[in-house]
Amino acid sequence: MIIAADIVLPLSREPIVDGAVAIEGDRIQAVGPRQEVLAASASRRVLDFGHAIVMPGLVNLHTHLEYTDMGPLNESRPFLSWIQGLVAASRKFSREDWSRSAKRGVRLLLEAGITCVGDIVTFGPGLEVALEAGLRGISYVEAVGLRGNDPHEQVADVEQRLRWAQTLAEGKNLKIGLSPHSVYTLSSKVLEELGRLANERQLPLAIHLAETQAECQLVGAGEGELAEALRRIGGHDLVSSRGRGISPVEHIWRSGLLDQKTLAVHCVHLSEADVALLSDAKADVVLCPWSNRLLQVGDAPTLRLWQERVRLGVGTDSLASNFGFDLFSEMRLLRSLCQRQAAVGSGAMPVPSARDLVQLATLAGAEILGLGGDIGSLEPGKYADIAVVRAPGLAIGDPYEYLVAQAVRSDILCTIIGGNITYLASKHGG
Ligand SMILES: [Zn+2]
Repeated sequence: MIIAADIVLPLSREPIVDGAVAIEGDRIQAVGPRQEVLAASASRRVLDFGHAIVMPGLVNLHTHLEYTDMGPLNESRPFLSWIQGLVAASRKFSREDWSRSAKRGVRLLLEAGITCVGDIVTFGPGLEVALEAGLRGISYVEAVGLRGNDPHEQVADVEQRLRWAQTLAEGKNLKIGLSPHSVYTLSSKVLEELGRLANERQLPLAIHLAETQAECQLVGAGEGELAEALRRIGGHDLVSSRGRGISPVEHIWRSGLLDQKTLAVHCVHLSEADVALLSDAKADVVLCPWSNRLLQVGDAPTLRLWQERVRLGVGTDSLASNFGFDLFSEMRLLRSLCQRQAAVGSGAMPVPSARDLVQLATLAGAEILGLGGDIGSLEPGKYADIAVVRAPGLAIGDPYEYLVAQAVRSDILCTIIGGNITYLASKHGG
């Protein structure tokens, strides 16, 4: 099969005008000017998208597919009331509900050109559905909960779910990781045990970190609205010990959970020392700018992280805290945050270019998931994971700029994973 369009954006080299990508089996065979690719390929099946950009499939580094149908929660509201609402609504969901919700999530991801995820699996069906769809990336088995306070029992339960997930994912496109939910929904003892488990098994680890000011107050001094809420439901060691006098980032570092396998999610409230610690530990950070806006938690110090060369990716978070899986609009918001942060900074502050931002949602995301050699750019030998974006009137200008400034998720015309067309906009169907 050959995919052709006005522009091919390989990421690994300059954009190709009137380009094409030849696919053989699940891999990319050739990338180049249309005539060259056509002449060199034996394939006669050409899908020509005309005024469009062919680019690597997008990488959404933070999702909770199972929460897709928690949609009514995604109105703008403060974090604490949101998470309490999420917990209450979750109690009413059956296994079938989670499965249906995750299926809709997968469909929406594919419609948005997303081929690779860092997905958090809380209940199980999300993994089954993502595997079935052939999504690539990492499914992180989540550990969450303060009840039944025997840490060994809690860790044994996680180990059992990890075994289940690893068996299910054997030979498939998704790897399995571990996600201790956060410092406030797990006791510090369990958190440490999970860090040890991840290290022993060399598991990639994702953790919600420094998302709210209340989390910082809890870890710092055992006070604030999160501490109050925890006290009402039975307490937390950070409340009873009046905190640790440190930041959430330092807390997970001291607990053995911060290293090059760590994906720190959100990272909104960081001190300069936290940024340095993340950078030194070679941890990765996933920025979720729209989710942060909706839950009114503040904006991440995106430019500082960028300048300190912390490896960054971008995620939408779940549709319980976002209106859609639109990585173009996340790129747009990241750019405006960087511009605003540069304006209040001192001296000349370079901001990420449009190309840098597109890279965050493709190659950089793939590298963070350990898949940089397989996906993230259009190169011969890599998997044919591709998104095609409608782009009328692109005869002039920079395609990266077009994607960051103009594109929306409904511009996706086609999504391909491993050479399989997983979504084709209706006017291109048949
Ligand atoms: Zn999340």
